[in-house]
Formats: sequence, structure tokens, C-alpha cells
Amino acid sequence: MPLKAELHCHIEGAAAPELVISQAQKYGKDTSPYIQNGSFVWHDFTSFLAAYDFSADLFRSEEDYARLADHYLTSLARDGAIYSEVFTSPDHATRAGLSPKAYTDALGEGMLRAKAKTGIEGRMIVTGVRHVGVESIERAARFAARCGHPLVTGFGVAGDERMGEMEDYVRAFEIAREAGLGITIHAGELTGWETVQSALDHIKPSRIGHGVRAIENPDLVRRIADEGIVLECCPGSNIALKVFDSFADHPFPALQAAGCKVTLNSDDPPYFWTSLKREYDIAAEHFSMNEKALAAVTKTAIEAAFVDRKTKTALLARLNGAAR
Ligand SMILES: [Zn+2]
Repeated sequence: MPLKAELHCHIEGAAAPELVISQAQKYGKDTSPYIQNGSFVWHDFTSFLAAYDFSADLFRSEEDYARLADHYLTSLARDGAIYSEVFTSPDHATRAGLSPKAYTDALGEGMLRAKAKTGIEGRMIVTGVRHVGVESIERAARFAARCGHPLVTGFGVAGDERMGEMEDYVRAFEIAREAGLGITIHAGELTGWETVQSALDHIKPSRIGHGVRAIENPDLVRRIADEGIVLECCPGSNIALKVFDSFADHPFPALQAAGCKVTLNSDDPPYFWTSLKREYDIAAEHFSMNEKALAAVTKTAIEAAFVDRKTKTALLARLNGAAR
């Protein structure tokens, strides 16, 4: 089994059905409209969001969030992952009545529990949500910049790509960059190549969340390759959301062949009936990648990780050791 690393996963969207069912029992809620036969059920974007919000609402206390992070990272480690970055969302916490700090501390506690059991390294990327608005994104950036939590190492913007313009987020990203945080932004998933170009022009991230629709513009693909921008690709998510018709149509191999740095990620895994392990399996099956090619993807992810030099060196050594 190849060692794995993940850069793109939304922690609220990573709650496994069995964990959601157990949380629902705790809070006296009925999961049957959203989970059937151990899987999430949805059929369009509206019902996807309904299931997502239902589950996210079952994580309310610090212990709930610690349990969520512990559960997810432990399951990742079981599948061979040695490193995990998750997107956190202070807006979710505020809705649940927790302060962003209490929420972040709790997730960090869960990550440390998983590390104690399995050795997996975890870090957090605080995200603002586009459809909540620019003000909340700047608030999230200010929180990320000053929270001082040792596992908060990045800042990103997620949410509905069709809302707002990249220029709107420049200030938020400046706050994050000045604080020394790594920068990533979702673009080129539900919207075309133009949002990826705009993100590179205005935000100057080292990584793009998805970015796969850059494939629509060969000049942009060349620019991504030349500038060494890392793409957080999530093929299973793309197919579930019908961004591409099938894995055979997915641009992952073409982007890689063009010299772009690509990584494999699960996004909101149980909602897209995937996992990080399944993404690696998809790449093996549909993109003809052997163990060596998959190990190279993990290496790309670790090199692009928002993690201190010492930890990065240790992770790369682990990867090299496994390759021998
Ligand atoms: Zn995402």
C-alpha cells in the first residue's frame, strides 16, 4: 500500500456516516433522510447541502469536534496516510455556539489524539466561505493570523465559486500571508479556467483547490507548470458533482503530463462516496499510475504541505524509507 498525504479535505465534510449516526443518537436526531445503508444519500446540490448541514449541526461541543478530527485522521492513518491537512471553518463553530478558538483547540486536540495512536501528522487551514461574504472571510483571516495555534498553518477560501470576485479577497489573503500562513484557494472546479487565472493574478497562492478546469486553457496550464503551482485534485468529488462525465474524461493525467504538480485528495469524502484510499485506487485504475507514480504524488503533497521544515524533512524521510 503506498503511503499517502492529503492537502484538501473539509473537516465537517469528513464525518463518516457511522460517526454522524452516533452523534445523531447523542442529540436525538433522525438520520434516515440523509443516511441509508451506511451511506449518505443526495441527488442534487440542494440535497447535498441539506445532508451536509444536517451532519455539521451534530458537532456542537468541544468534545464533538475533538472526536471528529480524531476519527477522521485515525481512519486516514489506517489507510496509509502519514500527513493530513484539513480545512476548518470558524463560521460553523460560531453557528454551533463555540468560539473559533474553542473550535480550533478542540480539533487540534483530536489531531493530537490521532497522532498519539497512529503517528499521523495533522495541520489545519482556516477557511473563509465565499457565499457567507467578504467580511466573514476577513474575520476568518484575522483569526487565523492571530490564533497562535501551532497546528494552524494555512489560510484558504472555499464555498460557492460562483459568488464574489478574486479581487474581493486580496485583503484577507494579505493578512494571512503577513502572518506567515500558507495560501490556497478553491478555483476552477464549478467555474471555468478564468477563476484559476484570476486567483493566480490576484491572490498568488502556492496551491489551488481543484484548479482542474485550467485544462480548458493551454496557456494557463503552461503557466501553472512554470510557476510550480500545486493543484489539489479531487477526482472522486469532481465525478460525483459531474464536473466531468467520467474518470476517463478527468484531466488529472493531462495536467500531470503537461508538467503541473498534482496531488490526490478526498474533499468531502463520505458525501462523494470516496476516501483518500479510494482516490489513490482511482488513480491506479483510471490514470494507470503504478506504486512508484503514486508515491511521487505523495511526495509532491508533502513538499507542498504547509508544515515546518523539520516535520517536512521527517515526513519525506519516512516516504523515502518506505520506497526502499
Ligand atoms: Zn474543497
